[in-house]
Amino acid sequence: MSKTGQMWIKGLKHYLYPIENKATYPITDLDFIKNKAIELEAENLQFQDFLRNLDSLSLDKAVFELSEAISPKIECTDCGNCCKSLMVNIDENEANHLSAHLGQTRDEFDQKYLDKGESGSMVINAIPCHFLVGNSCSVYSHRFAGCKEFPAFHVPDFNKRLFTTYMHYDRCPIIFNVLETLKVDTGFSNQ
Ligand code: SF4
Ligand code: SF4
Repeated sequence: MSKTGQMWIKGLKHYLYPIENKATYPITDLDFIKNKAIELEAENLQFQDFLRNLDSLSLDKAVFELSEAISPKIECTDCGNCCKSLMVNIDENEANHLSAHLGQTRDEFDQKYLDKGESGSMVINAIPCHFLVGNSCSVYSHRFAGCKEFPAFHVPDFNKRLFTTYMHYDRCPIIFNVLETLKVDTGFSNQ
């Protein structure tokens, strides 16, 4: 294992690091996260440059392990922000599947819920998503691949998705806590 990889594994033991001396960790206060994102904007640009220079495989492993440790401690039903802000792509199979589940023809389903691009691409035509009720998905067992994948810390090449991941840093507690903990684990310093 590389020296960098060993450092991250060691760092993972400290994932309960108390950010900003808050007693609770991970941090789930959505207002705190939103304000912190504004405050840390410059630092986070530096951190993204720092991450781009790290070994990609070790970084993928580190963010995956942090996500596995942190996600179970965060209640998505207290948040729902991804369903309130994501543009959700869906494919033919998913549209067929959900329209059948809802007892609608594809024509009815498409008219009501989809926007279609010239290339055949399809997106849910509303943000927040039609299927969000409160902070919960009303079609959870039939939700789309893009919904299941978010925030995608299990997907390879994390350091090629820094821009899109940081788009949600100010509203997704999982992303916020994984990335703030990653600063600690990688020894990042903004000095
Ligand atoms: S934004 Fe993040 S924490 Fe909030 S519901 Fe989505 S995945 Fe869960
Ligand atoms: S289908 Fe469900 S999980 Fe996906 S964006 Fe809509 S409400 Fe969220």
